[in-house]
Amino acid sequence: MKGLALAGPFFIKLCEVMYSYLKIIPMKKSALFFLSILIAMTSIAQQVKTAAAAVSKGLTKEEQQVMAWIDAHMPQAIEMLKESVNINSGTLNMVGVKKVGALFAKEFEKAGFTTEWVAMPDSIKRAGHLVASRRAATSSSIKSSSNKGKRLFLIGHLDTVFEPDMPANPFTMLNDSTATGQGVNDMKGGDIVVIMALQALEQAGLLKNTDITAYFTGDEEHAGYPREVTRADFINRAKQADIALAFEGASGLNSVATGRRGASGWRLDVKAKTGHSSGVFTPGAGYGAIYEAARILNQFRETLSTEKYLTFNPGIIIGGSDISYNSASSKGAAIAKTNIISPAVTVTGDLRFLTEDQKDRARVKMKAIVAQNLAQTSAKISFTDGIPSMAPTDGNNQVLSVINSISMDMGVGATVAGDPGSRGAGDISYVAAYVDCIDGLGASGRGAHAPGETIHLNHLPFLIKRAALTIYRLSR
Ligand SMILES: [Zn+2]
Repeated sequence: MKGLALAGPFFIKLCEVMYSYLKIIPMKKSALFFLSILIAMTSIAQQVKTAAAAVSKGLTKEEQQVMAWIDAHMPQAIEMLKESVNINSGTLNMVGVKKVGALFAKEFEKAGFTTEWVAMPDSIKRAGHLVASRRAATSSSIKSSSNKGKRLFLIGHLDTVFEPDMPANPFTMLNDSTATGQGVNDMKGGDIVVIMALQALEQAGLLKNTDITAYFTGDEEHAGYPREVTRADFINRAKQADIALAFEGASGLNSVATGRRGASGWRLDVKAKTGHSSGVFTPGAGYGAIYEAARILNQFRETLSTEKYLTFNPGIIIGGSDISYNSASSKGAAIAKTNIISPAVTVTGDLRFLTEDQKDRARVKMKAIVAQNLAQTSAKISFTDGIPSMAPTDGNNQVLSVINSISMDMGVGATVAGDPGSRGAGDISYVAAYVDCIDGLGASGRGAHAPGETIHLNHLPFLIKRAALTIYRLSR
């Protein structure tokens, strides 16, 4: 610890020496590891010193106590992150997902939460979900917006996209403020933000009489089917709350998500009269299924591609004389000849949207385009619902305004709504129809879902503090 008192070039040299040392033996020297984390945190502390001066102005004494506790407990936060990242919890690795759940359950209990494991039927082949909750003694089971404190539903997930057969990537410091590891950003970092924020509030006695449920799903990255089963309990419990806060990755420190697009699917099947290619374009032979499919897709693009927040992508196309497509394995085959007018085409794609209304309107237009068949062809399109959208509502904006006043009080400037077009669907989308929602409150980093994803550890103290204040102020 004495090293921290040293200043100037020697201090910087010490860091360099330590980090090059840690690069060689990254996992074993935990004492040095913590020291280096402390040094990293110190440099951030200096960066936000100006902000800290403003903090005292906007934060109450209790809130400042919470801020100080978080600063003092960053080594524990990093250790918890490291431990969770080093347990492989790919969605299909049920043992690993449960292990991460057990690790976090212990930590929730330290914050005065009761934990339970929501198991899935064996046939679904998913681990299940961790639920941690605490109830206000006087809490009414009837939802009422006149309640003084809001009932909160905090969302995280235990799984990652990295299955055990993928290359390992243990928690490793890349430099003094960046770490890599499986799920370090998406979203074990976000899980740590939730847990540390709750522990900080609990030690200050600020969770008394709050009604909070933290729901960490075990299959966010590849939710089990049917979704009516794998998300039923999640949705039911969210309905008992007023506000859902999700801790998926933050996009910068001054923006959160008030909207996320939903995802759905479609399948186009085209049939046509077949025959010798020399007759194509004649009224009797017609155009064949491949020209008809091309017409439809091109008209989709011409008609709908400029609508904001709406996207649709044909992901697979199979055409020819004898075609087969297996949607479960996403595989298909075709046998055909260049001198035969193709009798069949199948196309499947996705469709992403910001509101249910936008989705419905797009479907109507697509159906109309599909119906304008070329000669001697026919086509039909079918749609499947996937994940609903989280539309940017007035209620969401009201929660944003609370977060905005917190970041102003913390001296880090305004918080704005991020671009909903930049976000895909997430677990929060399943409950967006029932409660006010904010997402993007989690860790900041790069390359989520790609090997080598990173977390910016220098942002973590701020993100935990903002989460703690958000939970505190909303639940009062
Ligand atoms: Zn995620």
